[in-house]
Amino acid sequence: MCGIFGIWEHPDAAALTSLGIHALQHRGQAAAGIASFDDAFHLERHASLVGDNFTKPEVIARLSGRRAVGHVRYPTHGSAALERNIQPLFAELSGGGFVVVHNGNLTNAALLRNKLQKEGSIFQSDSDTEVILHLTALSQQEKLVDRLVDALGQVEGAYALVCLSTKKMIGCRDPLGVRPLLLGDLDGSPIITAETCALDIVGAKFVRDIAPGEMVVVTEAGVESIFPFPKVRSRFCIFEYVYFARPDSVVEGRGVYEIRKRIGRELAMRHPAIADVVVPVPDSGVPAAIGYAEAAKLPYELGIIRNHYVGRTFIEPEQSIRDMGVKLKHNVNRSVVAGKRVVLVDDSIVRGTTSLKIVKMLREAGASEVHFRVASPAISNSCFYGVDTPEQEKLMAAQMPEHKMAERIGVDSLGFVSLDGLYRAVGEPWRGSGRKVQFCDACFTGEYPTPLTDRSLLSKELPA
Ligand code: AMP
Repeated sequence: MCGIFGIWEHPDAAALTSLGIHALQHRGQAAAGIASFDDAFHLERHASLVGDNFTKPEVIARLSGRRAVGHVRYPTHGSAALERNIQPLFAELSGGGFVVVHNGNLTNAALLRNKLQKEGSIFQSDSDTEVILHLTALSQQEKLVDRLVDALGQVEGAYALVCLSTKKMIGCRDPLGVRPLLLGDLDGSPIITAETCALDIVGAKFVRDIAPGEMVVVTEAGVESIFPFPKVRSRFCIFEYVYFARPDSVVEGRGVYEIRKRIGRELAMRHPAIADVVVPVPDSGVPAAIGYAEAAKLPYELGIIRNHYVGRTFIEPEQSIRDMGVKLKHNVNRSVVAGKRVVLVDDSIVRGTTSLKIVKMLREAGASEVHFRVASPAISNSCFYGVDTPEQEKLMAAQMPEHKMAERIGVDSLGFVSLDGLYRAVGEPWRGSGRKVQFCDACFTGEYPTPLTDRSLLSKELPA
């Protein structure tokens, strides 16, 4: 999961890109980078938060030019530590320099990389995105757009891209539209980015969502749109609504905050509890807890306080650090929970680390009962499209049935929103297997919308 932003022809291109990716910081905190172009490409990449480097005047000054793209990285592919994996990725192609930022994850990158390496390509990183650069470089097409189309025609998986060449800015979404991408405008300067919150921060207008399979080509002549891939039914990631997108963003025409509140209402109807107070796990559980409390007519209280100066617990790579992270991040507000029957609301259970710790904290602070309500169905399958989930064996819901999860977490009751409840909350009716509007809900259902080529090769040798 990553955040991407590009702006075309603005005197403050790099400074605005830094603000744009700062607004998208929730999508990735491992690294940040910006590339700009005047008569040459300039590139700054740092393994840190946006604010640590991209607020420095000397860094912005080095990123001269009226065109820029930026990226915040949440490593789902490629080693987190390797500096060369930080985006934007840059390559000097036969026709000139080319920069790519990518949100999503390719599912056949290892196979393609293996083939390209055998043919002599020299890779600089272990990021799946680099495969796109090599395929573009090797395309026999003449025009850059055709070369990129040629490259993207060979990849499988999820991608939302912003690319910058010497003459163009190109935004492109995979045919399934798994990850979000949209077009904005700041006083006539086109912007391509992941979420509307990145437009709001710079005072830009939302123009429209970029459609699944669409390629938007920005040049001095204006903004052009093409649909170079065969049309398929779109499969936008439903987990963007559950967890990833910022609640103040409007994603694919739907307000994220409102959807999360509706999920809370669904939960209250399906899993009521006799309780005194509704408490969210901040910040991820807040809108759903508000929705639950409203529907259940129970008081909503901040019974857990979050320290905002610690990154998302999930980002930490080691289990031991993750365990520590949860303690560092949350504390119980004793007066709210002592002696009370608490409905605790969070967006999801992945490994179960967070819920286990928080429930223990609530008990230690004197909560008499804890009823845990989860604003997503049980996650029993890994994501291969850009959400960093562990292997299936480490997913709590893949290891045990719900009643065992409740026992393990130590709650009096446990309730998940149902898949049809989630679809209802998003505003799309659930139609079983014949459903008309489909999201990617593979983390809940295991129905992956693309082949998982690399995964099926994992157990076998890559072709020699
Ligand atoms: P876990 O502690 O492993 O069960 O993870 C669940 C917690 O992590 C919840 O509080 C979620 O808000 C959060 N979470 C869920 N999915 C992700 C993700 N892909 N990346 C980071 N955090 C996540």
